[in-house]
Amino acid sequence: MKKYGIPNILQEMSENNIFKQVFHVTRELRSKKLNQKPVLIWFTGLSGSGKTTISNFLEKLLFDKGYSTFSLDGDNIRNGLSKDLTFSEKDRYENIRRIAEVSKLFLDSGIIVLASFISPLKNQRDLVKTIVGEKNFIEVFIKTPIEVCEKRDVKGLYKKARNGEIKNFTGISSKYELPLESSFEIDTSKLSVQESVNFLYEKIINEINE
Ligand code: ADP
Repeated sequence: MKKYGIPNILQEMSENNIFKQVFHVTRELRSKKLNQKPVLIWFTGLSGSGKTTISNFLEKLLFDKGYSTFSLDGDNIRNGLSKDLTFSEKDRYENIRRIAEVSKLFLDSGIIVLASFISPLKNQRDLVKTIVGEKNFIEVFIKTPIEVCEKRDVKGLYKKARNGEIKNFTGISSKYELPLESSFEIDTSKLSVQESVNFLYEKIINEINE
């Protein structure tokens, strides 16, 4: 059996006596094995803007072409990992922090992550970028106008928000800070789902083949 050296587990120690464990199988090795560069594709935008729809079809396309992918979605995370959190600004920040840390673990495993979260504030999106690293972060702003999102009202949430049944609803009773430096922008009132997916695929394919 091949002998391995002992990894330097004491490489990094934080103030609270937590050591960073160093593993033999690194992100680079996993990435090489999967023949892809893991990136986080982060979809931001209003509820009903089309984040999940586009992300879902883009993932299917990547998966069918042989890439290893995983999707993280607002509703799923809110039903599990972030079950204990509200929609206050503080809790939304914590929700995003958790998602970013989970995304980072997936990136370490070599997987391409597609994440759809309203992430209304710049400091939330900046946090994700800081946690996963700028070079692994692709921000896609789904900039569908609120009138279109509200008209779609896929989940009936705009109606509830207008009636005051939902507090802190982004775009109605809680702000959405426009991303100014997104990698890509898509307005789904102008592009079809297929066009949006094709556009993004063309843009990211070189990045993940690196
Ligand atoms: P979000 O994840 O941003 O809340 P969803 O993807 O759940 O939004 O909902 C968007 C809705 O808009 C879906 O019902 C989808 O079918 C519809 N839709 C209409 N045109 C488009 C488009 N061009 N791109 C994405 N979604 C679209």
